[in-house]
Amino acid sequence: MSRERQINIKTPAQLRIMREAGRINATALAAVRERLQPGVTTADLNAAAEEVLKSCGCVSPFKGYGRPPFPASITVCINDEMVHGVPHLKRKLKEGDIVSIDCGTFFDGFIADSAFTAGVGEISPEAAKLLQVTEGALFAGIENMRKGKRTGDVSAAIQNYVESNGFHVTREYTGHGVGKEMHEGPQVPNIGSAGSGVSLRPNVTIALEPMVLIGTHETRVLPDHWTVVSADGSLTAHFEHTIAVTEGEPLILTVL
Ligand code: MG
Ligand code: MG
Repeated sequence: MSRERQINIKTPAQLRIMREAGRINATALAAVRERLQPGVTTADLNAAAEEVLKSCGCVSPFKGYGRPPFPASITVCINDEMVHGVPHLKRKLKEGDIVSIDCGTFFDGFIADSAFTAGVGEISPEAAKLLQVTEGALFAGIENMRKGKRTGDVSAAIQNYVESNGFHVTREYTGHGVGKEMHEGPQVPNIGSAGSGVSLRPNVTIALEPMVLIGTHETRVLPDHWTVVSADGSLTAHFEHTIAVTEGEPLILTVL
């Protein structure tokens, strides 16, 4: 596990800003979802998200992130590509593809981070099951985002949900605290043991993001230094929400 970053408890005013960032992020993702058709390029999808962000006076924290600087506002991953796919003018969607879109919104000093995977036209029953299981794993994790639970409870819920459905969950890429920074503490791996890890406190905000693979959990990074693919070429999916822990029910910030 990498070095643990600081956990920042948000004030009610900061949570309201993050909720608005989440709403804008959901609007951008909805605009992308509407454009998922054969023949559309992954650069078109990026443009659709950017149009929404721009109209709200926002930018994506993804643009310029890392080394080499990420060149777009969303990541787009097709089929065996799991995360961090770079949009391209020549890359077109095809009937039967599954496409993962990850988008971030930087609004009034705070970040919201969310992702979904969807099919282009008709998809195979196996691909449809992969999407269902990955989204189900996200919600199994969210169910544990409660005061007094630990990050290990969330991780274990995600891992158990995925593995009991016969799929594999990534080891290297994790959920994370989010706020002024895209990656804050606590880190929330997609595998773990119940009862371990950091205790969850009200007003901590975390992006949970199970990444699920059909074949094995192993991945590799393409020569573009960004795109992460399944090592065996099998299909992968990714769902993510930014969630606030409260005194009661988990609050999903990245919905309309
Ligand atoms: Mg994300
Ligand atoms: Mg994230």
